[in-house]
Amino acid sequence: MKKKYKKTLMWFEIITIFPEMFQAITDYGVTGKAIKKNIIHINLCNLRNFSKKKYKSIDDRPYGGGSGMLMSFQPLYKAIQHVKSKIKNAIVIYLSPQGTTFKQEKIPELIKRKKIIFVCGRYEGIDQRIIDDQIDEEWSIGDYVLTGGELAGMIIIDSISRFLPGVVHKKESVEKDSFSKYLLDYPHYTRPETIKNMKVPSVLLSGHHDNIRIWRLQESLRKTWIKRPDLLKKKTLTQEEKSLLNDFKKKLKKNN
Ligand code: SAM
Repeated sequence: MKKKYKKTLMWFEIITIFPEMFQAITDYGVTGKAIKKNIIHINLCNLRNFSKKKYKSIDDRPYGGGSGMLMSFQPLYKAIQHVKSKIKNAIVIYLSPQGTTFKQEKIPELIKRKKIIFVCGRYEGIDQRIIDDQIDEEWSIGDYVLTGGELAGMIIIDSISRFLPGVVHKKESVEKDSFSKYLLDYPHYTRPETIKNMKVPSVLLSGHHDNIRIWRLQESLRKTWIKRPDLLKKKTLTQEEKSLLNDFKKKLKKNN
């Protein structure tokens, strides 16, 4: 590994026909900074460079007929081999609506893998034989169909990056975010103290650290219970959390 990448914690290799799309994460914001600091490394592989066809086309008509085109086996195969030869022991992920849904709870496990090759499909997808022969896993970002895998890849890279040391300044700000520890984040307020008759909860102005911590925990529990009760089912509640949640439920009953 070159000296420059000594600090690199995650490598992403992307096989795509639209490498320019990735400027959204390589040139901006937190991910852009993480690349500058060499914490993450993103390499873009233009699939068209592996086409032998006139006009660099990489698609063809599907056998059996039907609408739409398909990404052909040959250029994809060559591109995957090329990328694999540069980055050893990487897993090859096909971004697909048919894949396992990507969830934040998977991120620690993914970080351990260190090297990921993403294959971004377009058109009606890719030749099944690439999936059978070259793909280790298929990942989806949700139950809807996108026009290509690029946005899905960017979303996954962005969310993984936040968990890498040195990317987000304060580790605890990632840990308290929604989904960490199966809780949604508590409400946040900034200046002014009152706006359109809406006041910042007084406990946040009290300077009493433990009361603020308890209020925030109870708000997280309350929001999760209302908006995402499925998350609470996965969580083992501490004694304190149980009692704060019960308090909230009692208050709710009283007010109804
Ligand atoms: N015919 C395919 C199907 O119904 O399963 C959909 C193809 S889609 C129009 C084109 C490409 O977008 C796919 O090959 C895949 O790479 C990407 N894609 C679409 N939806 C996605 C999702 N929910 N998650 C990840 N990638 C997706």
